[in-house]
Amino acid sequence: MQTQTQRSPRGRHRKFNASQTTKGRIALVAVATGAVSTAGVGGAAAAQLQAESHATENTENGTPVDFQLATDAAPEAVLGSSAPQILTLAEYKPVINLEEQIDAAVQYNTERVEADLAARAAEAVRVEGATVAQSADGAVAKPAEGAFTSGFGPRWGTFHNGIDIANAEGTPILAVMDGTVVDSGPASGYGNWIRIKHDNGALSIYGHMSSLNVAVGERVTAGQQIAGMGNLGFSTGTHLHFEIHPDGNTPVDPVPWFAERGISI
Ligand SMILES: [Zn+2]
Repeated sequence: MQTQTQRSPRGRHRKFNASQTTKGRIALVAVATGAVSTAGVGGAAAAQLQAESHATENTENGTPVDFQLATDAAPEAVLGSSAPQILTLAEYKPVINLEEQIDAAVQYNTERVEADLAARAAEAVRVEGATVAQSADGAVAKPAEGAFTSGFGPRWGTFHNGIDIANAEGTPILAVMDGTVVDSGPASGYGNWIRIKHDNGALSIYGHMSSLNVAVGERVTAGQQIAGMGNLGFSTGTHLHFEIHPDGNTPVDPVPWFAERGISI
């Protein structure tokens, strides 16, 4: 084996051979791959050390030189400190479901785009100048602009199940929330009525309209025009009669209902 001679700081000749490079390579390979088990690295290093046991019996002037290279130590001593570091590499979990993750990311992005398009579509059909607020129930719109002429409660010996908002014939009547039209046409007392079932279970009712813009089964969004104000049915002037039934059956005073959602009537 080819050797080199080098003067050590203590004045002793120290010999090392080229096989140290090989040991270094083993260590480098072990670190670089990371996938090599510690048992495998230790086994390989041990085999290497054993093979060189004779090569390191150097002599100087015929007398055995007593020295030990650090790398001649037991595999545990060489690798002991590095073994935990190799094990920690295993904590970085390999990406075994990359395609799933990509699919999920693509799906998420697609949903965002669709939601954005839906929002733009809703805004596109929203009446310009509509009073709309965002609430826990989503977008909520004021059903019509005009003068508040009658409130919720007892009236004329009966009970007024909603509120009245008066304005000119044909004033836009707007859906108060997203929902599906369940009635659109003539109804006793209302002249014409529209009823919308909303996604949160609430039912909104609009009465006395002279024109109807939506049909049963149609999907509407908050702020979309559904009709034009009129004076049909039991009515003493052009106005909108509006009711809100939060549970789908029981009318409540719309004024506080709107106020809780950021709309002032
Ligand atoms: Zn009314």
